[in-house]
Amino acid sequence: MNIRDYVRDISDFPKPGIVFKDITPLLANPDALVYCADRIVDLCPNTIKIDKVIAVEARGFILGGMIAERLKAGLILVRKKGKLPFEVNSINYGLEYGEDTLEIHKDAIMPGENVLIHDDVLATGGTAKAVCDLVKELGGNVIQCSFIMQLDFLNGKENLTSDVASLLNY
Ligand code: AMP
Repeated sequence: MNIRDYVRDISDFPKPGIVFKDITPLLANPDALVYCADRIVDLCPNTIKIDKVIAVEARGFILGGMIAERLKAGLILVRKKGKLPFEVNSINYGLEYGEDTLEIHKDAIMPGENVLIHDDVLATGGTAKAVCDLVKELGGNVIQCSFIMQLDFLNGKENLTSDVASLLNY
């Protein structure tokens, strides 16, 4: 199955000069959706038991849940500032313009747990690097950062020290 056919380019969204990779056609197609979750799990190292899948707000939540179910792992939500109800650890990270904050519950990961981080797109890697730092602060081991796609021309992989896996490269 060629899932590239289900990723739609939207020019100048959310601002001029950005080509937004819209995954809603992929999510809307039952075969493409299941295929994506299955293939991402195939790319995950099968010699290490993953304890937690960390899903990044908001588009990371969807496949993140499906991956966690397949790996029989727990699902942890990393969210934007102010959305999580319990005590949190926070991290500020740089965006193309300005900065943003991501948060994780303080009790989300036990020291020594093996973690897979999932988001839809790896662009500059700022988001994934911030999530890796949140996981490490709680004592977790980042086994892999997985994405539906990576934008190679932004070199996001260079910001990450962990294994990186993605189904599509642009
Ligand atoms: P970055 O921190 O630059 O790697 O950006 C990754 C985050 O921004 C992910 O959560 C993506 O969902 C989103 N993102 C960045 N660039 C794009 C893009 N061109 N199309 C869709 N989502 C994007």
